[in-house]
Amino acid sequence: MAKSSNSEKLYRKAEKVLAGGVSRNTVFRQPYPNYANSASGCYITDIEGIERIDFANNMAALIHGHSFPPVVDAVIEQLRKGTAYTLASEIEVAFAQHLIKRVKSFERIRFTNSGTEAVMAMIKASRAFTEKAKIAKAEGSYHGTYDFAEVSQTANPSNWGKIDRPSSVPLAHGTPVGVSKDVLIYPYNDIERTLAILDRQAGQIACVIIDPVPHRVGLVPGNDDFIRAVYDWTRRNGALMVFDEVVTFRVNYGGAQQKYTVQPDLTSLGKIIGGGFPVGAVAGRADVMKVFDPHEKSLLLPYSGTFSANPITMTAGYKAMEYFDKTAVKKLNALAQKAVSQIREVIRLADVPVSVTGAGSMFRMHLRPTPPTTYREAYQSKEVSDVVKELLDFMYYKENVLMINTFSCMLSTVMTPKEIDRLTEGLHRAFVELK
Ligand code: PLP
Repeated sequence: MAKSSNSEKLYRKAEKVLAGGVSRNTVFRQPYPNYANSASGCYITDIEGIERIDFANNMAALIHGHSFPPVVDAVIEQLRKGTAYTLASEIEVAFAQHLIKRVKSFERIRFTNSGTEAVMAMIKASRAFTEKAKIAKAEGSYHGTYDFAEVSQTANPSNWGKIDRPSSVPLAHGTPVGVSKDVLIYPYNDIERTLAILDRQAGQIACVIIDPVPHRVGLVPGNDDFIRAVYDWTRRNGALMVFDEVVTFRVNYGGAQQKYTVQPDLTSLGKIIGGGFPVGAVAGRADVMKVFDPHEKSLLLPYSGTFSANPITMTAGYKAMEYFDKTAVKKLNALAQKAVSQIREVIRLADVPVSVTGAGSMFRMHLRPTPPTTYREAYQSKEVSDVVKELLDFMYYKENVLMINTFSCMLSTVMTPKEIDRLTEGLHRAFVELK
């Protein structure tokens, strides 16, 4: 498959200065990364001058695609007024007001600089509020790179343990053993087993983290009975139920949580709320968020960040979210539904054992005839992920379509049926070619 020579040359330089030649492992394509030159709307151009449709949208972070004009204009204006102040700014107050109006469970907000930091702050807040150390998270689910959030992100099936009691395996070598002792792992959407696991450590759990549509667990939405069962358990046992909506906030106007009958105590946010700039936030119940309050005589959680709520991110994020109003959300989700039904048709025509999962503006394909319902089913063996890589390379180099490396797409509001047609026609050719 034709690879780009300028990218190879650049990579030879990069390997000498960047650890592993990259700054993010996710940009690595075999045998070297392809380098971006520019991007506009839903198109991205590499340093060979090849233009591709961008279905990755910076790993789900761009809800209006690249260089969305209202965001660009607002940011340019703000750039002239300063980029980071030491002082607080009006725009962070306005943006917080906007988010609080949007979501029922948001009473107070703290901004951070990434989703990882938001999850970390959310876990620390839960511990500070409950005065308990342990947390529970779903097997295999990704929540960024805080040590505790990384537990059970390992993809090696020999580490999984029994489904009744999934193992607490740390991800990074050198993680202190105490970390995994304080992280319980539950099987997603499995009420009985999850409650049994939580019951064993009842009284010691600060929070149960739920991603309402966890990507690595198969991009399968959490079902309402499961969310409610966890919520009720947390009420009985003095724990918090917290949502990681770093990715899923794009699913509805009020995030994925909008459709459930119970609401989380805290939520971590990131990605789209930065309008294309680095961001994170924790939002939730005012009494819990008091742990961050410097007025409190015994401040429970001193938490800060040099660039937190910087006026550039706040300006971009506020503008992006204003434009992601109820009408835009509805239109985008309808476009995703159209894409999913076209893909299902292509799967049928090509007669390949592929299924699709997803919610709102995101969907993921799986090389199995029926959609996975658990992490263990969604897990890709080495053979499967080799085929996925081939499909992604076909789409990238032959069809000029960029997708996320899990074989997923995250749509943006600037896309039209034309881009969906190119995606599905390309997928048809890829399935037929690699059958
Ligand atoms: N939580 C979830 C569900 C994520 O998918 C991610 C990143 O992909 C994070 C947290 C971490 O966010 P960031 O990469 O901004 O640190």
